[in-house]
Amino acid sequence: MLGEIRGLNEECGVFGVFGHPDAAQLTYYGLHALQHRGQEGAGIVTTDGEQVHAAKGHGLINDVFSQNQLEELTGHASVGHVRYATAGDGGYENIQPLLFRTQTESMALAHNGNLVNAQGLKRQLEAQGSILQTTSDTEVIAHLIQRAGHMNKEEAISQALTMIKGAYSLAILTEKRMYVAMDPRGLRPLSIGKLGDAYIVSSETCAFDVIGATHVREVKPGELIIIDDNGLQATRFSEPIQRTLCSMEYVYFSRPDSNLDGKNVHASRKTMGKKLAEESFVEADVVTGVPDSSISAAIGYAEASSIPYELGLIKNRYVGRTFIQPSQELREQGVKMKLSAVRGIVDGKRVVMVDDSIVRGTTSRRIVTMLKEAGATEVHVRIASPPIKNPCYYGIDTSTSGELIASNKSIEEIREQIGADSLSFLSTDGLEAAIHDGEQSLEHGSCQACFTGNYPTEIFPSTIPPYEKE
Ligand code: SF4
Repeated sequence: MLGEIRGLNEECGVFGVFGHPDAAQLTYYGLHALQHRGQEGAGIVTTDGEQVHAAKGHGLINDVFSQNQLEELTGHASVGHVRYATAGDGGYENIQPLLFRTQTESMALAHNGNLVNAQGLKRQLEAQGSILQTTSDTEVIAHLIQRAGHMNKEEAISQALTMIKGAYSLAILTEKRMYVAMDPRGLRPLSIGKLGDAYIVSSETCAFDVIGATHVREVKPGELIIIDDNGLQATRFSEPIQRTLCSMEYVYFSRPDSNLDGKNVHASRKTMGKKLAEESFVEADVVTGVPDSSISAAIGYAEASSIPYELGLIKNRYVGRTFIQPSQELREQGVKMKLSAVRGIVDGKRVVMVDDSIVRGTTSRRIVTMLKEAGATEVHVRIASPPIKNPCYYGIDTSTSGELIASNKSIEEIREQIGADSLSFLSTDGLEAAIHDGEQSLEHGSCQACFTGNYPTEIFPSTIPPYEKE
């Protein structure tokens, strides 16, 4: 999993508990399982039914929370969040859950995804007198809910949700209740689980396993779920429309032990590798995958091509977080530290190197060079997703078009730049077939906008940064 040094970053993970005396501890473990979704900051807010308690900070879960802090986060319900911050919005105030206190009630919001109309709504809110304290989209949701304060909470939240556009998987905690919602397109995953009588909410199902909870079901697109002492009540704020779950969740972001839309991520990646082998077979001696997220696809490629899978690349697990280094030179240095080619495996061999995606091309070039320096006679690069040509506006930092190599170069030019003997990408049809077994329906469909440019929602001019408009 090298996305963090190649310019591909998930922006958040959400976790929540309702009805358990150790809500904060469980949330700590749950967030730990979601750490891959964001490493820049984390927070937990709990409620004991009367008062809310909060702790948050920069860094990894282990850095942010001490045992003492967790003990102070008392209560039977909690929401937690891990985040990756894009440039310029890494301030402490943006670390979630965002907590708002009024005379009558508190409200903590944990949000995964980006809104596409946040800028316009911010302007409207400010024109109407709201004072925004963060640069995060999530605060907009809080203000919209607050503005409908004359309604009951459920109606206020429903109304706010109909005003926001884009991607949101959301958990909101007040003193007495938890509200869980997903955008009508279902762009980001969110699931409900149970641990005894307690309800658990998580961006990914892998976190249920960690705390011993069972997966009950996914939150449905357009659904608003209310959880309180009376149990769980599901309502809708939007009629069903075509679901477009982010296909990069399958390709790269989600953990292989998670299920997305009922399908195991490892199994989907393996099928991507199989389809890739069917679409672009090449004679070779070994297949290897770039650890960690490409291993499943490499195994699939090896199975379908009958070329043995070998551990041609290994990852040094004890390197610090090199991805925060901003310059290209330092990023490349980071690749060197994180990965090694195994000479005993690749020396004198024709190697198929399977990777999940190419963003800037820098990482691929380093890996191809590394394999050749270790004696590989040929390196054939096979990418288990289509070329990423367009930026994402739904909460993935895929870099700008200018930085996306496939946006500016042909496949042959990319091959030349990364120094591979051949290069092929999975087709969009192949990806679709791997995710849905060729069976798309209203409830089961995926977004492929970063490959195709077909965005599933309107993209507002204010969402597009100036450099993308040139
Ligand atoms: S544009 Fe790409 S990264 Fe963004 S939601 Fe769609 S598939 Fe996922």
